[in-house]
Amino acid sequence: MDKETIPSLALIVPCYNESEIFKHSLNILKNFLNCLVEEKKIKENSYILFIDDGSEDDSWQQIILASRELSCVRGIKLSRNCGHQVALIAGLSSVDTDICISIDADLQDDIQCIDKMVEKYKQGFEIVYGVRKDRSTDTVFKRGTAILFYQLMEKMGVEQIANHADYRLLSYRALQSLLKFKERNIYIRGLIPLLGYKQARVYYTRSERLAGESKYPLKKMLGLALEGITSFSIIPLRIICFIGFITCFISLIAIGYILTEKMMGYVVQGWASVLISIFFLGGVQLFSLGIIGEYIGKIYMEVKKRPKFFIEDTIMKE
Ligand code: UDP
Ligand code: MG
Repeated sequence: MDKETIPSLALIVPCYNESEIFKHSLNILKNFLNCLVEEKKIKENSYILFIDDGSEDDSWQQIILASRELSCVRGIKLSRNCGHQVALIAGLSSVDTDICISIDADLQDDIQCIDKMVEKYKQGFEIVYGVRKDRSTDTVFKRGTAILFYQLMEKMGVEQIANHADYRLLSYRALQSLLKFKERNIYIRGLIPLLGYKQARVYYTRSERLAGESKYPLKKMLGLALEGITSFSIIPLRIICFIGFITCFISLIAIGYILTEKMMGYVVQGWASVLISIFFLGGVQLFSLGIIGEYIGKIYMEVKKRPKFFIEDTIMKE
């Protein structure tokens, strides 16, 4: 790979019901891409690839119109809503440029970083993370849950860059390595640190969404967090083992105590303690089964090797 020459760039932009903000984002991205081309920082054949993740609004029509007007616009339409992570993989799978940068359609992430990322690539870095300086533009709830999540992941021994979402540059070689991970339940930001290569970070302040609403409601956020934890760590299973061991140990002591009391002729007093232990142990067992079930469910989904997505339509240019 010769980093002295000017690289070609693909911007990967997943869109789910983004018609409200599409034109605005397209204008900004297109102008920025043109500037980089004019400044000879990237090649002329660089492009923006929009992935329509099964939108119910007219996002795809807008992508088609944009591609007719602008030679730098390409598109992929997925046959249904597969989620942000899978939409990204769908887009990344068709990249043929030296470098690619994935960015959200609402452009909350500072696009000036694209320039800095390309600079880093030219210095020899193959993976460049866009990292938020702070989380001031998030709601208190989102900020709180994010801190909790990153701490939990760290405790579980999962390597992950805090405050980095999916705004990142990948070289062609790093991208091909990422695509070798064939798991169906995919959590990209957990996989990237596993790739190795030279990695760098650029810092930015995230702005608020200009139009439309977040496509990551609480349910999807929790789903992604659970994906992150169960895809990369078996520590929850170990914790269950440990709780089970401690509970058995305490039960043995309790059994010894009860037997001694019985032999000495004391009668058992009341049901309260019995009921409490039944409820407590029942709760622990159900919770443990739930966690084990989560992992078994994951194995079940993986062994079926179902395809992650289907492409309904594409707009590609030579
Ligand atoms: N997105 C997607 N499929 C989904 C949900 C979201 O492709 O099922 C896209 C969305 O269009 C956006 C990006 O993922 O480009 C991030 O979503 P959003 O900005 O709503 O998330 P937030 O910034 O609120 O975390
Ligand atoms: Mg957003």
